[in-house]
Amino acid sequence: MEGEDETESGAEIESIEDLPSMGPSTIKKLSEAGYKTLEDMAVASPVLLSGEIGLSEDIAGKMVRSARAALKMGFQTAEEVLRKRDLVERIPTGSKRLDDLLGGGIETQSITELYGEFASGKTQIAHHAAVMVQLPREEGGLEGKVVYIDTEHTFRPERIIQIAENMGKDASRILRDISVGNAKSSDHQVELAKKAGGIAKDGNIRLLIIDSLTSFFRSEYAGRSLLAERQQKLNRHVHDLQKLADLHNLAVLVTNQVLAKVDVIIGDQVAPVGGNIIAHQCTHRVFLRKAKGNKRIARLVDSPYLPEGETVFSIGEGGIGD
Ligand code: ADP
Ligand code: MG
Repeated sequence: MEGEDETESGAEIESIEDLPSMGPSTIKKLSEAGYKTLEDMAVASPVLLSGEIGLSEDIAGKMVRSARAALKMGFQTAEEVLRKRDLVERIPTGSKRLDDLLGGGIETQSITELYGEFASGKTQIAHHAAVMVQLPREEGGLEGKVVYIDTEHTFRPERIIQIAENMGKDASRILRDISVGNAKSSDHQVELAKKAGGIAKDGNIRLLIIDSLTSFFRSEYAGRSLLAERQQKLNRHVHDLQKLADLHNLAVLVTNQVLAKVDVIIGDQVAPVGGNIIAHQCTHRVFLRKAKGNKRIARLVDSPYLPEGETVFSIGEGGIGD
């Protein structure tokens, strides 16, 4: 994104290689000492670093400060925050009522989570949004491209064609601007998300979809003993996603399964996978459930600034509608 203030170095810093005074041998030494990511550098002590790696304290300090600046770990004025918020745009979902619930659509610079049981409409909303974001601005789109990370083999180009043609759009053009990654494991999923950053850097990616965010994590880290490890990895992954959203002013849309809560009698009897980790990091969480026929109910949960509410939308031949 342009026009961002950075206290150190104005260039975009996305990985440890981009920090000042980095060369191949320094990178190797850092990696051997366990400093592999910008986060590792941002929380490092320059004195320790210079001892361990043999850099001057001055250079080590510069690296650490640049890493912090790149990760926006310093303060910003409220005015700067507001200016950045001014750049937020919204992707229509296809349902006016669902858009209203979301304050106008799926927001850029944020992570929106759709959670709900099987066939509640998560994947359908993802497909529809992948078309909507590409529409011209006068039709409510952002004229942007899409990265779609599919973990459940449910991405269907045929469905994209159906939705696009229903709007009278050239479906082949729409398909060309969706980059699909089929994730094979949670590690692969994390890697694809990082790669999405590279694509976003030189492409006009405005929507990043992960359908589903949690399925691999859930199956690979089954059982209590692996829970902490799973949450830590998921935490880092979601953190990466938020960084992409901020850096490229794009919307991140993730889907999540629900678990039955055995101890609940009144209120919600299901909860999203991932618990607090995801709850704290997703800006908007939408709980979807089935209603009669092709109707679905969406409820906005725990939004930082939008009122909680519920609305009905439908899934049809042409995708999502009112
Ligand atoms: P999930 O929440 O499991 O991802 P989906 O988003 O895949 O669920 O939603 C599945 C629902 O969408 C099903 O009820 C199905 O009937 C409906 N659906 C899928 N494709 C079409 C279509 N081409 N026309 C009408 N309804 C469809
Ligand atoms: Mg699905």
